[in-house]
Amino acid sequence: MNANDFVFIGRPARVIFGNDSIRHLEREIDLVGARRALVLCTPQQRDAGEMVAQRLGARCAGLFDQAAMHVPIEAAREARETARRLGADCAVAIGGGSTIGLGKAISLESPLPIVAIPTTYAGSEMTTIFGITEGGLKKTGRDERVLPRTVIYDPQLTLGLPASMSVTSGMNAIAHAAEGFYSVNTNPVIDLMAQEGIAAFARALPVIAHAAPGDRGEALLQARRDALYGAWLCGTVLASVDMALHHKLCHTIGGSFNLPHAETHTVILPHALAYNAPAAPEAMALAAKALGGRSAPQAAYDLARDNGAPVSLRELGMKEADLDRACDQAMQNQYPNPRALERTALRQLLQDAFEGNRPD
Ligand code: NAD
Repeated sequence: MNANDFVFIGRPARVIFGNDSIRHLEREIDLVGARRALVLCTPQQRDAGEMVAQRLGARCAGLFDQAAMHVPIEAAREARETARRLGADCAVAIGGGSTIGLGKAISLESPLPIVAIPTTYAGSEMTTIFGITEGGLKKTGRDERVLPRTVIYDPQLTLGLPASMSVTSGMNAIAHAAEGFYSVNTNPVIDLMAQEGIAAFARALPVIAHAAPGDRGEALLQARRDALYGAWLCGTVLASVDMALHHKLCHTIGGSFNLPHAETHTVILPHALAYNAPAAPEAMALAAKALGGRSAPQAAYDLARDNGAPVSLRELGMKEADLDRACDQAMQNQYPNPRALERTALRQLLQDAFEGNRPD
């Protein structure tokens, strides 16, 4: 293939975007050909689950509120059994990546269409990637069957996402788009989505982070709208092209040292970009422009730090003594990345991330 040739895969999700777009839920359930929905949520978002159940009335088969981080196999089995017992013919997942992940785990074994209503910016709703944890081990894979059929993005439903989680979730999304620029199988359409998605977060996160509690002003509503729009675009990038060093590092150290998902992405991103910068100058220029800075690694760092997000692995509870082991693990699997994996430089990357140093 010529260097400028590319393959573009468009996945067939139907996206409904806008304030109060939750009002279209019944219509969307009709359109997937379903009659009775099992509503999924976490225990923490039971109110949101009940709101959806109430709206559906007789079309709600039941509410399953046991979604949990990393999708434990036990919860997935119980949810599948509940759906079968109640005669549900679709699942409505309202929440973040964990709840949408539970919906995916159900549809992996039962042909239930998923209607996803994301309330964070993680982007799982756009991807065919699933993860299930069994016996402490998280197995991830890709399967077209788990892709939600319909996604309802309603910014009003994100107003309650705490500012700190909004910033780290937004940085998690920015990481998908930033790695899209230098992905081994990127394409011009993905570049556009990645630029637009990052720019939307660069506008939105400072407004969300600095809003007064209870603020419902026009600027904040616009910022919530921008952020959710960014989540859709960045999630589409994650779904469409292969990720590289940043995602592999987060997966490795997040899993091995039990670090929180979005926060780990937030801390690692500036350092992964700094590592790749010499080998991917065009990608860095696009990322810097979208972030509104001169250097992509520094602009990513500043966006996190200035909006109250953690910038060091130390803050996340990682131990300095574990950095060597983390480096060994990161060196184990080779995968396409703009810059080859070099042990000394990778170990330095981890040290910088541990200490929270601003990239040069
Ligand atoms: P999460 O879904 O684990 O949510 C964290 C907590 O925030 C939960 O208690 C949740 O109920 C709560 N919450 C969510 N939205 C809220 C809101 N608007 N207001 C108040 N509370 C709210 O967090 P996440 O970062 O969205 O997802 C992380 C998980 O998703 C990880 O396990 C990650 O591996 C997975 N993930 C998967 C993909 C994929 O493509 N498969 C993509 C991204 C993330």
